[in-house]
Amino acid sequence: MTNKNLEILRHSTSHVLAEAMLQLFPDAKFAIGPAIENGFYYDFDLSRTLTPEDLSVLEKKMRAIINQKKSFEKSELKIDEAIKKFEELSQPYKVELTKDLAEAGEKKVSVYKTGDFVDLCSGPHLESTGEISADAFKLTKISGAYWKGDEKNKMLQRVYGVVFPSKAELKAYLTMLEEAAKRDHRKLGKELDLFHFSELVGGGLPLYTPKGTIVKEELQKHIEGICRKYGFQKVSTPSLAKVELFETSGHAKKFQEELFHVTSEKKHDFVLKPVQCPHHTQLYASKARSYKDLPIRYMESDKQYRAEKTGEVGGLSRVYAITVEDGHTFCRVDQVKEEIKSLINIIKDFYSSLGLWENHWVSLSVRDYAHPEKYIGDSKDWDLCENILQEVSDEMGLKAKKCEGEAALYGPKLDFMFRDAIGKEIQIPTVQLDFATPKRFELEYVNEKGEKTAPVMVHRAILGSYERFLVLLIEHFAGAFPLWLSPVQVTVLPISEKFKKYAHKIKDQLLEENLRVEVDDSDESLGKRIREAEKQKIPYMLVVGEKEEKEKTVSVRARGQREQRTVSAKDFISQIKKQIEDKA
Ligand SMILES: [Zn+2]
Ligand SMILES: [Zn+2]
Repeated sequence: MTNKNLEILRHSTSHVLAEAMLQLFPDAKFAIGPAIENGFYYDFDLSRTLTPEDLSVLEKKMRAIINQKKSFEKSELKIDEAIKKFEELSQPYKVELTKDLAEAGEKKVSVYKTGDFVDLCSGPHLESTGEISADAFKLTKISGAYWKGDEKNKMLQRVYGVVFPSKAELKAYLTMLEEAAKRDHRKLGKELDLFHFSELVGGGLPLYTPKGTIVKEELQKHIEGICRKYGFQKVSTPSLAKVELFETSGHAKKFQEELFHVTSEKKHDFVLKPVQCPHHTQLYASKARSYKDLPIRYMESDKQYRAEKTGEVGGLSRVYAITVEDGHTFCRVDQVKEEIKSLINIIKDFYSSLGLWENHWVSLSVRDYAHPEKYIGDSKDWDLCENILQEVSDEMGLKAKKCEGEAALYGPKLDFMFRDAIGKEIQIPTVQLDFATPKRFELEYVNEKGEKTAPVMVHRAILGSYERFLVLLIEHFAGAFPLWLSPVQVTVLPISEKFKKYAHKIKDQLLEENLRVEVDDSDESLGKRIREAEKQKIPYMLVVGEKEEKEKTVSVRARGQREQRTVSAKDFISQIKKQIEDKA
C-alpha cells in the first residue's frame, strides 16, 4: 500500500471511531480526527470521562460499522450553509473550524457523512467502511488534549487507534510494541544507571551518570575519529549568542517559540543556541578565504537548547538541552558532489560499525513545489541542489525516494532511515545543501579569477543528538552494548574471600591497559554475583579461584553464554583489546 493510501485508510478509520462514539454518546461533540503514524486519533468533548472498558465497546461498534460497508458520502456546501448545518447538529467545534475557514477566505467546504455521523473534512476517504479490515485495527489509548493545542482552551478527550491493511501487520506491530516496552530506555536507563532526572534541576534536563557519560564519550570519540579521516576539524563555540545572529540566519523566525531568552540584571540579552550553524559561519568568516582553502569542515558536539512544551518533555526522547553532534562543510560549487559523497561514506562507516547500515533506505527530501514561500533562497539554487543530490544518489546507488515537502528551510537534503532490532524506523542522519545561509552572512572566498564568491554550506548530522541516539542504542541492544561502548567491560569475581587479592591484581592489570573493569568482592554468593553482572549486561565476567591464581589465569564467561574457558590474563587482555579496536 502506498503512503497516501495508508493515510486514507488511517483517516477513514477515525471517522468510523467518531461514528461509534456518536452511537455511544448521542450528545458527543467532535473536534478533529487526523491520521498519524500507524493510525489515527479523534478528539471528543463528552459528558463523562472515558474508561478503558469504553474502548472495547467502541471497537465492537466500529466492527459493526465496518461490516455494514457504509459509504463515505461527500457533499459540497456553501460556507454559511455548513455553519448552519453544524449549528443544527450542536457541533460547536465544527462551527468554529468552519468559521476559521470562512475567515481564511474559503467559499465552500466539503462535508462527509457515514451513517449518522457528519464531518467537516477535506478528505479523501475510502469509498466504503467495508474496505477496512475489521480485525486489523485497535484502539490503544485515551489521553487529554486541549482544543487547538492551546492550554487556555477546554481539555478534550483524545482516543488513539492503530490500523493496518491486514491482521498480520497489526499483530506484528503490537508484538513490536511489547518488545519495545521491555526495552524502554527509561526503564533500562535506570537499571543500568546511565542517566538521571532531578526534580530540582528540572524535567527535560538529563544528568548523565559516570556510566552514561562513558557511553556518550565513547560514541563521540568514535564519530569524531571517522570524521577526522574525512577532513573535519573540531571547534568549540559558546551556548549563548545575540539574537541578531539567529535573525540573520532565519532561525529566530523558524524557532520563534522554541527560543530560550537569557537576560540579566546587567542588561544582557542573549538567546541559547537552538542550532550550531550560525556560530560556525562566524568561524568561517574569521579570516579571508581563498578557493585553495576549501573545503573547510567544522565539527562540534555541544548542547543546543529548545523550549519544548512543558508537557511534551519526557525521558531522553524530548529534552530542553540536547547534545548535538553537528558539522558543516564550506566548499565551492564544483566540490559539492564529492563532499556529499564523503559525508555519505561517513554515515555508512558509522552505521555499519553498529550493524545498522544493512537495513536502510534514503529519502531525497525536496521542496513543496506548490508552496515556495515556505523556503529561503533562489529557486535556481534549489534546482541545482536538487539535481546534485539526485546525481549523487544515482552514482552511489542509494535509490533515494523523492519526498516532496520534506526539504529543510534553506535547501534539499538526503535523509537516511534505519530499522532497529525490533523493526522500529529511525530517521537520524541527514546531508543538507545550503546556498542561502552563506549569502545571508555574506560569507565569501576569492575564486581563481580573483573574484569574491559565496561558498556553499553543507550541513550534516551523523548520529544526531546523543540523547536520541542513546535511546536508539539502549532499545536496539536491549541494554547489552557492544564491548567498546559498555560502561563496564569486565567484572572480576573472586570465588571467595581468599582470592580477593588476586582479583584486584587482575583488575589492576586490566586498568593499566585502559580497560573498564570492576571487582565484585561483596559478601553475596558467587551465583548471585554472576546474576547481578548478567543484569548489568557486562560483556565479560572473570571468575578467579585457587586454580586460576596458581596458574595465573582467569576463567572467562562471556555475556549470554554459560560455558567458561580458561586463558592466561595476558591472552585475555590482548583478545579483548583486539575486539574493542575492531568494534566487534
Ligand atoms: Zn475525513
Ligand atoms: Zn547546520
